[in-house]
Amino acid sequence: MSRPTPGPPVGRNGPQPASRAGGSRSADVRCAVCGTESRQSRFRPVPPEGAPDLDLRPGEPLRGTMAAWLQQCPHCGYVAPEIARAHPAVIEAVGTAPFRALIADATHPPLSRRFLAYAYVLEETGALHAAAEATLQAAWAADDARKPELARAWRGEAVALWRAGPPLDTEQTVRVVDALRRSENFEDAGATAEQLAASHPPEAVAGVIALEQRLIALRDSGRHTVASALPPPARRPHATQSNIARRDGAGWWERLRRIFRRK
Ligand SMILES: [Zn+2]
Repeated sequence: MSRPTPGPPVGRNGPQPASRAGGSRSADVRCAVCGTESRQSRFRPVPPEGAPDLDLRPGEPLRGTMAAWLQQCPHCGYVAPEIARAHPAVIEAVGTAPFRALIADATHPPLSRRFLAYAYVLEETGALHAAAEATLQAAWAADDARKPELARAWRGEAVALWRAGPPLDTEQTVRVVDALRRSENFEDAGATAEQLAASHPPEAVAGVIALEQRLIALRDSGRHTVASALPPPARRPHATQSNIARRDGAGWWERLRRIFRRK
């Protein structure tokens, strides 16, 4: 019934875009926690075309597909990208009072609740950084639902989870800085940005951090994209307009991933 690993994580910045066209397919799925069968869609991500936010929330069209990133069992409430799989620790977690309270809390936007439930499950399995990602995604859903207080609180929780886990890499630190700025923890955001800037990061990361530092100085807690921090990619002479849009979006994504992954 269960496997030793949780379902495939939604991953950093949401599902990783596939090279082929996206969409979703429905199928009957048996919940790995309670055994109930339900109709679920399996999400196939599309590559983002627009520039990502400074916390690497993907641009459209991937941005607008968050409702399809996670499956939820209608019987026990278990949440994961694929509920047919579950870590053994998850089966116990889903039955606990805090989990039941999370999925039933009507004061939270429904989509945020789903990401928080997934974060809870991940935290119970010890995957603190993945839990931080899911908590940040709950904040994105709160942004969309125009619940700024909840979004601020969940950004703060995401930072706490990141910092409770293993040492952070450059990408994670950039996102911690942005989450701190957007939750109006400007002092902590400034100190964290300064530390990262002093570590002589690659030029593009330095550009993002310099923008963060300007925004922190202005006490600006708003949403900004990396397009404001980095020079635009070069135009390709023989591409059609739609190809340019597509490639530039994917280009942003690929460039950032390359930059952040660089050792
Ligand atoms: Zn279930």
